[in-house]
Amino acid sequence: MVTHQLTGTRRLEGKVAVVTGAGSGATGVGTGQAISTLFAREGANVLLVDRDAARAADTLRQIESEGGVASVFTADVTKSAECKAMAEAAVARYGGLHVLVNNVGILGKGTVVTVDEDEWDQVMTVNLKSMVLTSKHAVPVMAAAGGGSIINISSISALRSIGITGTVPYTVSKGGAMTLTTSMAVQHGRQGVRVNCIAPGFLYTPMVAGTMTPEWREARRNASPLGTEGTAWDVAWACVYLASDEARWVTGAVLPVDGGTLCTTALSAFHDMR
Ligand code: NAP
Repeated sequence: MVTHQLTGTRRLEGKVAVVTGAGSGATGVGTGQAISTLFAREGANVLLVDRDAARAADTLRQIESEGGVASVFTADVTKSAECKAMAEAAVARYGGLHVLVNNVGILGKGTVVTVDEDEWDQVMTVNLKSMVLTSKHAVPVMAAAGGGSIINISSISALRSIGITGTVPYTVSKGGAMTLTTSMAVQHGRQGVRVNCIAPGFLYTPMVAGTMTPEWREARRNASPLGTEGTAWDVAWACVYLASDEARWVTGAVLPVDGGTLCTTALSAFHDMR
């Protein structure tokens, strides 16, 4: 299942990376799996963090089959103690922690009128509080070693509303990820810790595959000026850049990976681009 046409060029040689939500999707390649796979191909030692050990083991098998170095760490990143153990495991297994990708995310629906309060709390906890908790334990380790790179996975839905039926918990949590990014970039810049954010557009990944009809999938593809479908690999390549020393002067940035969707209006997407 895991494929990609480009081969690694060792851009992350010598780095230790932690990727949350690294387990594979049941029906295709998820973003966490793609990030982990490319990181390993680029020479990083990767700690594959997921609450589902079996799924993370799928990612591990793929990486090891290619000769990469990785291991599974089972954790629920909404729990501070487990995030602490995660950072400690990176150091114990590989001697450091240079890159953290906060990839875990779940969907949440509703407008402010229809939102379920428990769902709001759960989405905020999984999507946003988890970023705070993993960073809380990763930043001191990075800072002690002279710096590192943290990448928070947000969404273009934090910048443009994606539907009138509403995904308020999701979009607000992803907006929080952007604000968290700029705050952390300022507060930890002098420690050499770069913090950036990726805003994916309408990807086709296992998280959303089960929620859409073929017609809706086609509409999402047509929503971008490029008119092509985004995949987990597109986000993963952006992560490789932000994790690498090539991005040594890039911090506090929000990078859309969306085929240009943020440049469009509803009119251009639904009429002129077909
Ligand atoms: P993914 O990386 O394939 O899967 C996320 C993984 O995180 C799953 O294995 C999930 O396990 C795991 N996870 C969930 N809660 C966890 C927790 N508390 N502790 C540890 N692991 C946990 O998902 P994806 O669809 O590709 O999305 C990745 C990121 O991109 C998300 O932040 C998402 O919001 C963002 N994004 C996606 C799209 C899109 O169109 N797909 C668009 C914009 C942004 P379970 O399966 O057990 O829940």
